[in-house]
Amino acid sequence: MHTAYLTHPACLKHDMGAGHPECPERLLAINDQLIASGLMDYLDQHEAPKASKEELARVHAPEYVEWIFRQSPDSGLIHLDGDTAMNRFSLDAALHAAGAAVRAVDLVMSGQAQNAFCSVRPPGHHAGRASASGFCIFNNVAVGVAHAMQHHGLQRIAIADFDVHHGNGTEDIFRNHPGVMLCSTFRHPYYPYSGAGSGNDHIINVPLAAGSPGAEFRVAVSEHWLPALERFQPEFLFISAGFDAHLEDDMGGLSLKEADYLWVTELLKDVAHRYASDRIVSMLEGGYALHALGRCVMTHIKSLSGL
Ligand SMILES: [Zn+2]
Repeated sequence: MHTAYLTHPACLKHDMGAGHPECPERLLAINDQLIASGLMDYLDQHEAPKASKEELARVHAPEYVEWIFRQSPDSGLIHLDGDTAMNRFSLDAALHAAGAAVRAVDLVMSGQAQNAFCSVRPPGHHAGRASASGFCIFNNVAVGVAHAMQHHGLQRIAIADFDVHHGNGTEDIFRNHPGVMLCSTFRHPYYPYSGAGSGNDHIINVPLAAGSPGAEFRVAVSEHWLPALERFQPEFLFISAGFDAHLEDDMGGLSLKEADYLWVTELLKDVAHRYASDRIVSMLEGGYALHALGRCVMTHIKSLSGL
């Protein structure tokens, strides 16, 4: 059994302007590190298809999906919010990013892959039911979760989100869905300034203070995520894999290292092994220090693949 690796060339053409941290070079840094380490040769590589409007409308308001299609410019940049923009390739990139989650679920559910990593952009976890923000257009992980539930009939799905920012879009979409557990750690108070007080029995939010080292992240996961996941017994596990809590990432302001990402990936693999027939789909979210991003994703995939 293998780890599937999904991406699409369109994700490299989405460009929000010079100096924007959510840049095409992020995917190139990941690609370079996977090739240089030799890991790429052992992954099952797949081109991500586009998500359909029907697949998007499982988690987004249909009028929001139509609005995004209408925003797509013929040239130049249009801004969806202060830090999220579209060029003429962005719609395609966003459709392939969400479609990667759908295809990854199908690969894992059919047994063609044990687990999967989607190296895609734009990221997704700040996109709400009817809102684009924080570099996100469609909520890729949510589209994957909805596909696993509605197409494959699963009833209990967990999302682990270790991006440095609170996944407010994912929480917005699943707050009233007790069949979806969201386990999140995030720096607080910090963008998007949510999450500290909005949890419930299936939204497990653990705020971390600025500068928190890996030891505090591990305590949060061990004491809050793990008991909740043991109680919930998910049939499928998603990871919102943002690597902007890394020590070298200036945007994040936490101090995680590769060993912490290895530790949490191994822990989540163990949860998936016990409850979810090893089924994991991991979606790239943030991570803006290019060298650290490449190393972290390589470490994460190495653990997922067991190589
Ligand atoms: Zn982030």
